[in-house]
Amino acid sequence: MGRSFFISLIILFFFFSACNVGVPHEPYRLNDLPEFNADSAYSFVVRQVAFGPRVPNTPAHDSCARFIEEKLRSYGLLVSTERFVALRFDSLPMWGVNIFASLRPELKHRVLLFTHWDTRFIAERDSDSLRRSMPILGANDGGSGTAVLLELARVMSQMPPDVGVDFLFFDLEDQGPAEVHSMIDFYRYWALGARYWSRHKPRGYHPLWGLEVDLVGARGARFSIEDYSLYYYGYLVKRLWEIGQALGYDTLFVDYRSRGLFDDHVIVNEYAGIRSVIIIENIPHHFFGSYWHTHRDSLQIIDANVLKAVGQTVLGAVYNVK
Ligand SMILES: [Zn+2]
Repeated sequence: MGRSFFISLIILFFFFSACNVGVPHEPYRLNDLPEFNADSAYSFVVRQVAFGPRVPNTPAHDSCARFIEEKLRSYGLLVSTERFVALRFDSLPMWGVNIFASLRPELKHRVLLFTHWDTRFIAERDSDSLRRSMPILGANDGGSGTAVLLELARVMSQMPPDVGVDFLFFDLEDQGPAEVHSMIDFYRYWALGARYWSRHKPRGYHPLWGLEVDLVGARGARFSIEDYSLYYYGYLVKRLWEIGQALGYDTLFVDYRSRGLFDDHVIVNEYAGIRSVIIIENIPHHFFGSYWHTHRDSLQIIDANVLKAVGQTVLGAVYNVK
């Protein structure tokens, strides 16, 4: 997850003028969903962390990309990878890999699930100033979203939904500078994989909606309603939170509205034109957990039950697409 900013005045204006309306309630069925396996998802975090930090231009990064691709292929999905070069803020060329995998590629009616799989090259918020220049393990930031999508791909492939599902693993989300001063900085230096993909996506690819998961595995996580998501597709946000609460995860999916965050979903909305929302840890009044962009973002903070709560909720949304 990259830097965040307070909601922009422009979006605030449109939000209040266009989106703060009642949302129709549509029924859903939650009793015949596939079972998202918490232990399996957790094992995918372990596998990623075992490679070490997944920083571009490193062997760990290459190995992890291969691992993700091979897992998706083993579930019978149609996998394609997109390799590209993007410049870091200090002009370092970075070799990026976006991984795209389709379940039931023959269907026109589709939804898009996405996350970022790269991890941060520095730990600028770490309390130990001597270790701030070292890359983080990113068990939660990079690892958790990837693990949830891999587990979703596994269980969905065994009991395919009525809608086609695309899984997209973006690279180069988290390689921006330690100091970010403006929205322009975000657009230039963060979410580079999402930006590349959005600009090169196939013509005619128009999923019904997109859903990003990021920072979805930390113990004690709370998922509050992120303002940009509400602006871009409030109906889906409302439905996700209803489903999460109906599944018994009401302590995680809280009725609290939090400020807009810049992440890949903003780019997918703005550049690819796919209405998309995000499930991301955003603890009311606290923002992210204190592990964020520090060396504490390791396996010790991961709670398999949080991965499960998010994964099962996403299943509820996908298997109820009309
Ligand atoms: Zn991050």
